[in-house]
Amino acid sequence: MKTKRAVIVQCRLSSSRLPGKALKQLGGKTVLAWVLNSMKKVKADKYYVATDYESYETLKPICKENGFDCFAGDLDDVLKRFCDLIKTLKVDTIIRATADNPFLFYEAAQASVEEFETRKKSRHPCDYLTYTGLPHGSGVEIFGAQALLTAAEQTDNPYDHEHVGPALYNHKENFKCEFVPAPSRFNFPDLRTTIDTYSDYLRAISIVNYLENSKKPYTTEQILSACKSDFVNNPIVFVPSVVKGQGTGHLHRCLSAAVETKGFVYIPDDCSLAETAGIIDEYKEKGLESYQIINQIPDQTYPAVIITDNFKLSQQQAKNFSKCKKLISIDEGSDYSEYCDYLLDIIPSYDIDRLPNLFDTSYIVKPLNVRKNRSLNIEKVLVCIGGEDPAGLTLPAAQALAKNLPGAQITAIVSDVEKYRNILNINFIAPVENLREKIFEYDLVVSHYGLTAFEAAFAGCAVIMVATTKLHERLAQKYEFAYIPHGKIDTAKMQKALSSPNLLPDVKLSLQQKSLGSYIQKLALGKKMCCPVCQKSETQGNAKPDVVISRNSTRTYRRCQNCGIVYMSYSAEEDKQYKKSYFFEEYKNQYGKTYTEDFDSIKNQCKRRLGVMRSLESEEGGKNYLDIGCAYGPSLTAAMEMGLNPFGADIAEDAIHYVKSELHFPAACCAFPDIDSEKEFGISQFDSISMWYVIEHFKNLDSVLSKISTMIKKGGIFAFATPSGEGISAKSDVDHFYTISPTDHFSIWEPSRAQKILKKYGFEVVKVVSTGHHPERFPACQKENIQKGSVKWNMIDKYSRIMQLGDTVEIYCRKKADK
Ligand SMILES: [Zn+2]
Repeated sequence: MKTKRAVIVQCRLSSSRLPGKALKQLGGKTVLAWVLNSMKKVKADKYYVATDYESYETLKPICKENGFDCFAGDLDDVLKRFCDLIKTLKVDTIIRATADNPFLFYEAAQASVEEFETRKKSRHPCDYLTYTGLPHGSGVEIFGAQALLTAAEQTDNPYDHEHVGPALYNHKENFKCEFVPAPSRFNFPDLRTTIDTYSDYLRAISIVNYLENSKKPYTTEQILSACKSDFVNNPIVFVPSVVKGQGTGHLHRCLSAAVETKGFVYIPDDCSLAETAGIIDEYKEKGLESYQIINQIPDQTYPAVIITDNFKLSQQQAKNFSKCKKLISIDEGSDYSEYCDYLLDIIPSYDIDRLPNLFDTSYIVKPLNVRKNRSLNIEKVLVCIGGEDPAGLTLPAAQALAKNLPGAQITAIVSDVEKYRNILNINFIAPVENLREKIFEYDLVVSHYGLTAFEAAFAGCAVIMVATTKLHERLAQKYEFAYIPHGKIDTAKMQKALSSPNLLPDVKLSLQQKSLGSYIQKLALGKKMCCPVCQKSETQGNAKPDVVISRNSTRTYRRCQNCGIVYMSYSAEEDKQYKKSYFFEEYKNQYGKTYTEDFDSIKNQCKRRLGVMRSLESEEGGKNYLDIGCAYGPSLTAAMEMGLNPFGADIAEDAIHYVKSELHFPAACCAFPDIDSEKEFGISQFDSISMWYVIEHFKNLDSVLSKISTMIKKGGIFAFATPSGEGISAKSDVDHFYTISPTDHFSIWEPSRAQKILKKYGFEVVKVVSTGHHPERFPACQKENIQKGSVKWNMIDKYSRIMQLGDTVEIYCRKKADK
C-alpha cells in the first residue's frame, strides 16, 4: 500500500534573535512564502504550517496563498504541537522543515523522503532520517508519524518538548534514527543559508539579488552558485557620515554608489542629519531599494566589506570595521587610517600625515549642465555653506555680497527658511534637490571647501571658498581658489575675494568622469591577507594594526609587529597562474629573454650559490639536494655538474615534464608544502634545500618554513634568493619599490630581520650575500648622470657591495634544531 506523506513547516513569529523573521521581505515575498514554495516541490498528500495560537491569524493568509493549511498549537511545547496536528491527519510519513530556511534544497528533501520510504519497505526500516552535510539551513527531517506520537508519550524531558527531532534521536534505544551523509551534489557543510540573525537576513538578500527574482524556488545548483559567488561573499556596506554639520555630500556619494553596486547603506537609528530621509527617497527614484538601507552592520557570521565615507573615523569604528572582511575608506581624515585596508582620496586634501592608495578626482561626479560662457559679470549668486552651517557663516556672507554687489540677485540655502523670513534683499531657500545640475545657473557660488565648490568650478561658475578652518584656507590656496580667510566675514573681506584673480577657478583636476561604484566593486573583491609567517591578522590580539609601509593603487604593504616581515596586506590584483606563459611571455616581458634562453646564465648563478652552500656544509655533508621551485632545471643541472644528486619540485606542470623527460632528474609537480618526498623520491630528509626567487610567492610562509625544517637534515643548509627590502631601490624610494614589486610577491625580506624569522623554524643564518647591484639606481647617479664604467660609477658599485645595498639577496641558513 502506498504510504501517505505530510509536509509540516514549523513557524513562529516570536524569535528572540530576529523577531518576525518569517514575515521579513525577501525579493518581493515573505521568507515564509519562500519556504512554502520550496516545500510545495516535495511530493506529499498534505501540506501544513504548524504555528502557535498567537501567530495563527497573521500566517493563515500566507499559507492559503501558497497552498498550505495552517494549524495552531502550543507555542513552547513544539512536540505537542506537532503531535496534535499529526493526530488530525491520516498520514504515515512526516517531512519537517522550519520557516527560517528560504533556500531549502527541495531536491534533497525529495531524495531523503524516498530513501526513508525505501528503507521502510526493506528489512531495515528506520523511524527517523535526515541528510548530514547539507548547507546550514538547507535540510529537512523525515520521520514516521506513529513513531513521533509514541516518542512524545515516552518523554517528559523539557528539551525534547521544545523541539521535535530529539524526542526520537535522543532516544536511540527505542527508535532507529539514521543520519545519512548527503549525496555529493548536496554536501556542502561549510555553507550557511538559514536566517537566524540579522546578518543571515542580509546574506539572504544578497543571494536573491545575485540570482535575481524568480517565481519558482531556486534549484540546488542555483543556490550553490550564489553561495559561492563573489557578490554574495563580499557584501558591500557603505557607511556615510549622517552627522549634523558634516554636510550631505557623503550620503549622496554613498547612495549613488549603492545604486550602482546593489550594496547596503548603514544608517544608524540615531542619525542626526535632518535631510537623511528625504535624500534616501530621492535615490529610491533612481533605483535604490528599501532593503539596501540597514541599521546594523553585519556581524562575523556574514562579514562585510565596509566602505566608509565618514569624514573622520573614530578609533572604535576603525577597530571594529577593521575586523570585518575589508575596510576601504574614502576621503578619510582621522588619525586612524592605519586600520584601513585601502584609502581612496577623491576630494583633494592637504593631509600630509599619510598617503592614500589612490588619489583620483575623476570620481567626483561632474555636473552635466555646464555654463557656455564663463564671465565675471555677476548677476546671480548662490551662497551654499551647508544646510546646517554650524559656524553661522551664511548670513554674513550673503549680506557682505549684497553690499558689494548691489544689483545682484542673491540666493542662500539654509535648512530653516522661516528663521530668515524678515531679511531683505536675500532670497533664502531650503536645500535643493540635485543641486549639482542646477549650479550652472549661478554666475558666482560661495561655498566652503568641499564637493559643492568643486562642482561649481566644474560647471564654470565663479567660486569663492569660505574657509571654515585654517586648513581649509591652505587648501583653497593650494587649489587656487578665491577665498575668505578663516574668521569673521565682512564687506571688506568679501570685496577682496571678489577681486581675486582666481575668482574664475581654473580647475587643475581631472575632467574625466569615472564610476565610483564600479571601482568600489573591484576593490571589494580584493584580497585581505595576514602576516604570512604569523598567520594571524594584524588586528587579532594586537591593540594596534600593523604599520603600513607603503600603499599603491592596487596594494597595501605592512610590517608585522610580531615577526617583523613586510607583507602584502591587501591586493586588488588577480591571482597569478604559474603556467607555461609565466616562464615565457611574462618572463620575457620583464627580462627581455625567455627563461630557457636565459638558462645558461641562470645555471652559472646557481653554480656559484651551490658553491657557497657547499662551503657552509659540514665535512660529512651528503649529496641529496632539493630545489623547490626548480622551474626548467637550471639549478638541478648545475648541481649535477657539481656531483650532487639533484631533486626538483615545482607547481608548473610543463616545467616538471621538461625536467623529467629532457633532463632526466627526479621531480615532483606539487604546490609546496603539499609534498610527500618519501613517497615521491624515497627520501625523507635532504642534505641541502634551495629556493631561488620562490619564497616571496607564498601566502602561507609558516607552513612552507615548517615543512622545509622537517625535510632537511640537522646541520644541512637551506638557502634562498629573493628581492631585498633593504636594497638601494627600497631605500631610495620606498613607494616606487613597492609599486613595481610584482603583484605575486606576498612577502618582502629584509636581511637584517631574517634571523629572527628563521630562528622560529630551527634555522641559523650563516651567510648573507647582497646581489643585484645597480649603481644607476642610486639617487646620486641619477642626479649627476654618472656614466657606466666611470670612476664614480665604480665607486658607487663598490659602496653598494660593502653596504649590502643590492636589490636582491641570498640568505644561507643552517638547520640547528627541530622546530
Ligand atoms: Zn608576522
